[in-house]
Amino acid sequence: MAYTETFWMACDSTEQLRAEYGPFHTRGEAELEARKLGFCYVLRYEHVIGEKDEIQEVRCIFIELASVAPRMYRKLHTRCATCGESAVHEENWRAEVWADIHEFEHSRHRVRLFEQTRSEGLKEVGDWRENCA
Ligand SMILES: [Zn+2]
Repeated sequence: MAYTETFWMACDSTEQLRAEYGPFHTRGEAELEARKLGFCYVLRYEHVIGEKDEIQEVRCIFIELASVAPRMYRKLHTRCATCGESAVHEENWRAEVWADIHEFEHSRHRVRLFEQTRSEGLKEVGDWRENCA
């Protein structure tokens, strides 16, 4: 009788040339390691083993760590639309503080916020400060 052997890897992309780390027995272990490494995916491998202990089939399923990954790669760019001064921030509130100080020190300057993620690049966040008020 054929049986299936399952194990988990942490990996950084779904491309053929990806970095993988593992194996792990459980998804939890693989996820933990992926998060530590800043990887966005875990990979579930299923080896279907035949009667003579040969691998008959390899299946792999990628699972994206959606809730964590985008945050890890996210950077916030503030840029003043008036004078061009800019800065990079890790956290929302730091971007807000930077904008508040800049607009306080330079009256009528308007700071725009851009969000940078690995998958989408730079993207402007519209109405960002109305949301925080
Ligand atoms: Zn300015």
